[in-house]
Amino acid sequence: MKTQLFPSYTIGPDSYREVVKTCIPYGSKAAVIGGERAMAAARKKLESAVEGSQLKITGYFPFGGEASIENIERLKAIPEIKEADMIFAVGGGKAIDTVKVLAQGTNRVFFTFPTIASTCAACTSLGILYHPDGSLREYSFSDEPAKHIFIDSEIIANAPDKYLWAGIGDSMAKYFETSVSSRGDELSHSQAMGVNIAAMCSGPFVKYGAKALEDCRSHKASAELDEILLGVIISTGLASNLVNIDITTGLAHAVYNGFTVIPQTEHYGHLHGEIVSYGILVLLAVDKQYDELKRIHSFNSKIGLPTKLSHLHSSMDDVDKVIEKALSGIDVRHYPYVVTPAMVRDAIEFLESYK
Ligand SMILES: [Zn+2]
Repeated sequence: MKTQLFPSYTIGPDSYREVVKTCIPYGSKAAVIGGERAMAAARKKLESAVEGSQLKITGYFPFGGEASIENIERLKAIPEIKEADMIFAVGGGKAIDTVKVLAQGTNRVFFTFPTIASTCAACTSLGILYHPDGSLREYSFSDEPAKHIFIDSEIIANAPDKYLWAGIGDSMAKYFETSVSSRGDELSHSQAMGVNIAAMCSGPFVKYGAKALEDCRSHKASAELDEILLGVIISTGLASNLVNIDITTGLAHAVYNGFTVIPQTEHYGHLHGEIVSYGILVLLAVDKQYDELKRIHSFNSKIGLPTKLSHLHSSMDDVDKVIEKALSGIDVRHYPYVVTPAMVRDAIEFLESYK
């Protein structure tokens, strides 16, 4: 049984100032695990936040580049991590997921300090584990998410804007996928609440997305950037903590999975959320939501997210392979109708000539 679904959070350039007050009830020793660059970006603020307090940092430990069981086992054996009362996860999704699984396996609480905003990893209790070669291993479902999320908008504004750009695409899928995947279902209280929270993963992005990206590009914390950070991390994360996996995913992520089998995706470094944002257009075309398609197509065009195959270095020649992989996973096994290869192909063709 889950005892806690919602992490608390603070956001803003002074977010870390709350560290001692928030964490001290859980002990006095914290080990920091994260990405090397992320820890370098956060260290000064973190040190000054704990200075002169009872809360001691036992050390800073690079997570190892991949959210893998191998890295988790290696970290677990480090004495300063072993003896810590709590773990601070600093960085992006993979660093945070590493800590999530380590904390769950060693019965410790953890706190998250996202330094980029490309996913809701800092908030969701779902962790994604990979093999050392980078291929997907498994989904890991923790009993509890982080106790608190410290979102420092200044640090995130200084990270490369491409992560935020892709994060917008990925987060918006939460609305379109949950609303379609749950259509016609009798939903329990928490599932219904999750679907309603996911409804916030569209409007604010269209409204504030372009300005937030502009601010991130000029390394400036702003109210619009905060709106988008809360959308990417909090709205999306809470929705995912409340609804089950069948509802939280759908055709946009199926399309993403499809693109993982064509070599151009890796070769040109197309990001998860970038491809998912194209998947949203496919979802809307298949679902015949033409007004929404118009709105999201124009938003994608405005901020440079993909609207057609060439934007993903792909062509109609790849489509059969993409569709086969897309429909072979779990993403559309729970859907209001059977999604056929022909429906996806027609939608992609429709998008190719969409103006
Ligand atoms: Zn995603």
